[in-house]
Amino acid sequence: MSLPLFPSTWMNDEHRMLQDSVRRFFAERWVPHAGAWREAGIMPRECWNEAGAQGLLCLSTPAAYGGGGGDFGHEAVVILEAARANLSGWGGGLHSAIVAPYLIHCGTEEQKQRFLPRMATGELATAIAMTEPGTGSDLQAVRTHARREGDEYVINGAKTFITNGQHANLIVVVAKTDREGGAKGVSLLLVETDKAQGFRRGRKLDKVGLKAQDTSELFFDDVRVPAANLLGGKEGQGFFQLMEQLPQERLIIGLQGVAAMERALEETLAYVKQRKAFGKSVWDFQNTKFKLAEVQSTVLATRAFVDAAMVSHLKGELDAARAALVKSWVSEQQGKVMDECLQLFGGYGYMMEYPIAELYVDARVQRIYGGTNEIMKELASRFM
Ligand SMILES: Cc1cc2nc3c(=O)[nH]c(=O)nc-3n(C[C@H](O)[C@H](O)[C@H](O)COP(=O)(O)OP(=O)(O)OC[C@H]3O[C@@H](n4cnc5c(N)ncnc54)[C@H](O)[C@@H]3O)c2cc1C
Repeated sequence: MSLPLFPSTWMNDEHRMLQDSVRRFFAERWVPHAGAWREAGIMPRECWNEAGAQGLLCLSTPAAYGGGGGDFGHEAVVILEAARANLSGWGGGLHSAIVAPYLIHCGTEEQKQRFLPRMATGELATAIAMTEPGTGSDLQAVRTHARREGDEYVINGAKTFITNGQHANLIVVVAKTDREGGAKGVSLLLVETDKAQGFRRGRKLDKVGLKAQDTSELFFDDVRVPAANLLGGKEGQGFFQLMEQLPQERLIIGLQGVAAMERALEETLAYVKQRKAFGKSVWDFQNTKFKLAEVQSTVLATRAFVDAAMVSHLKGELDAARAALVKSWVSEQQGKVMDECLQLFGGYGYMMEYPIAELYVDARVQRIYGGTNEIMKELASRFM
């Protein structure tokens, strides 16, 4: 058994009640199917509707727009529990705590009313499409272009590595509305895929980990969207809208990382205490105890760091630099912890039927997406 975590002071009774019910829901309803979803490379579309019916989508969206009316703490509870349950294929966190906030904070009143209630029920599954085959870190270099023609925008371009790419029927697309405008030439367009002629989904990508996640390529060939689908209604705001929302995305990666580490420690402790070698349990070797005491310290310290960032974020005080360091530091600790834990499983740690193997492969991308760790350190150092 791992040691108790220090109390998460940002959690109130409502968060704790939600934690119990979400943990039960994932364990009873989704975890039994996780292996099949991993094999299929995608979760069924109905999961979105089921999550909506359970109140697990858009928890921090105001009730006036059909959401849960909670705070980011509610979103964090669901994100932590999904990671603890090893449901890394579930893209609901991105939908509720990354895409919905773009609409809440940057959308026009009409856009909020049109999309948020359907996002909360799961009728709309969403994605955000920034990355392109030719550019990821350098967002200002995107080539996807949106040309204004009368009451419409005409979008051309290609995106890749897009989370929820197969299921998404509402996609926030990062596009240039002014090719010469640098950061001021970037806008965010809301593409409703069911109505979008010229929109095509490419391959569901074969990844090292996150096997049940439908990360995909997307193509836009003369896709027409109403001018009313320009996020916020004003061209050239996209880069600033992204910069405003990215700290929360980075904190989410920190939350996912620490919950996965907690799970890995528990799995490893349980395994080494029952596995026998040389007539005693693997736990009885001093090396095992020292390694897991070190992992335990890392888990406690990481959780305290993430909790401090949560407290700061819930007060509206988490700046881009510290959020970037949460993302990079936690994901680096996660990589080390998964490696140490897997080693203690011996050969079984390399078998996908053991959760530690999935935790290990899933951890790798945490240092890459949401902005690579190199970019995170570059960003933070500008404020030091
Ligand atoms: C599973 C998965 C899911 C994803 N989901 C989404 C999604 O939903 N939406 C979306 O838009 N994107 C998504 N991404 C894309 C992800 O955000 C990018 O892969 C990431 O930002 C890096 O961009 P890149 O792959 O183009 O790498 P590049 O930008 O080509 O970087 C290559 C290397 O160069 C380094 N580098 C680049 N610039 C600098 C610099 N200035 N200083 C130092 N080093 C530098 C990088 O750190 C990296 O090591 C996802 C990616 C994966 C793998």
